[in-house]
Amino acid sequence: MEKQELIEKLRSNMSRDTWNNWLTTAQILELDDKKVVVGLGNLFIKEAVEKRFGSIIKETINNITGKPLEVIFKEIPISKEQKNAVNGPIIKNRPLKLSEFNPEFTFDSFVTGNSNRIAYYSALEVCKNPGKYNPLFIYGDVGLGKTHLLHAIGNFLMENAPDLKVKYVTAEDFMNQMMDGIRASDMENFRERFRRNVDFLLIDDVQFLIGKNTVQSELFHTFNSLFNSRKQIVICSDRTPDELATFHPRLISRFEMGLITDIQAPDKATKYLIAKKMAQMISLQLTDDVAYYLAEHVDKNLRKLRGAIMNLLLQSQISGAPVNIESAKTIVNSMMRMNANKVRFQSPEVLETVKIDTVIDLVAAEFNINRKDIFSSSRKKEIALARQVLAYLFKTTMKLKTKDISEKLDKNHSTIIHSIKKIEHSLLMGNEMIKNKINNIKNKLEDEKGILTL
Ligand code: ADP
Ligand code: MG
Repeated sequence: MEKQELIEKLRSNMSRDTWNNWLTTAQILELDDKKVVVGLGNLFIKEAVEKRFGSIIKETINNITGKPLEVIFKEIPISKEQKNAVNGPIIKNRPLKLSEFNPEFTFDSFVTGNSNRIAYYSALEVCKNPGKYNPLFIYGDVGLGKTHLLHAIGNFLMENAPDLKVKYVTAEDFMNQMMDGIRASDMENFRERFRRNVDFLLIDDVQFLIGKNTVQSELFHTFNSLFNSRKQIVICSDRTPDELATFHPRLISRFEMGLITDIQAPDKATKYLIAKKMAQMISLQLTDDVAYYLAEHVDKNLRKLRGAIMNLLLQSQISGAPVNIESAKTIVNSMMRMNANKVRFQSPEVLETVKIDTVIDLVAAEFNINRKDIFSSSRKKEIALARQVLAYLFKTTMKLKTKDISEKLDKNHSTIIHSIKKIEHSLLMGNEMIKNKINNIKNKLEDEKGILTL
């Protein structure tokens, strides 16, 4: 039996899904009386297939050939041309630019420490052996250097393998380009761009696709098509594949097939070196004490560190004086104040205002009137009653002082006291209508409790 015939028969004996998801790269590398060697796309797919389908494939092959052959799985070795492409020809061609790469984000300008070393070397490794670890999945919090590494890959390949077509795209951009394709009824063009005209696809911030099933499905097919033609894919995310729980399982299992590495928050020593490197990149003199001060006081998001350093540069250009520890302190303090403002946004005062607002809205809705009616001078019965109920709820549920209520409703003190008394009296007399309305409002407030902690 010929190798090709065997692979065709194997295919017709396997489920179509299994074949399409796992076995499109399968080839028979060797076939004799004793054994069959089945080649698969790369090490990871080989391991996965062997583990999941190894015994089924053996059984099927034995049935097809009618002989108890030994079945061996191997990764298909990377071809010479592919390797050469990476080492680069002696005479360099002009790189074909599919994407712009930030010239500052290089492997050289990336400082390594315990927190990011593995991610750094993995990124370098896929440049040197494309297709070997596929996909490479890098995850880590915001501002820890993921985008920097993707651009470093782009810059490195432009320099060392100018014939490779390297494309960088954020997941958001991928979606927008796909939407454009759909709108223009020209998905062919879109697919051409992402599936055929690419040797190296770098996808940033893939977590953006959470909940976007159609785009995920398109990404899955893009992924398969590149993967099967042994093109390298690198994906960054601020969640682990596990945490992308709502992603389609087949996409997750694709992600997990390759190499997964993370970037952790840098320790102080690494942050210090990063501060020095960032300053060097913009030709700013940063003394050791200032770099150390920044490493200690700016939080782990390295964008903030960069922000602080850019600010220092600006300040020293304006003042003409070199950067010193005093100017660093001023900048760090103003950054802290900005953070404190964010916290104050959720301060008790603000929360109180939000709660008051919610109660007003609920009362207006319950009485079927407009919010602004409550603050008008209208004496219409419904409106007057709504105002009284509102005053009552402010007093009993929100525990506001009468003085504050009168301020909020812009009614005088005695009117407020009178309103509250009136509602209390109605309830005491068993007024069902008022009782029901108040209960409805309170129930709805309960529903909002999670947000408002009333
Ligand atoms: P992410 O994409 O993970 O949110 P970025 O790659 O945008 O983070 O990094 C934020 C900033 O920190 C960038 O200016 C980047 O150059 C810088 N940076 C991150 N990690 C390092 C590092 N190890 N060495 C030097 N600069 C770094
Ligand atoms: Mg990023």
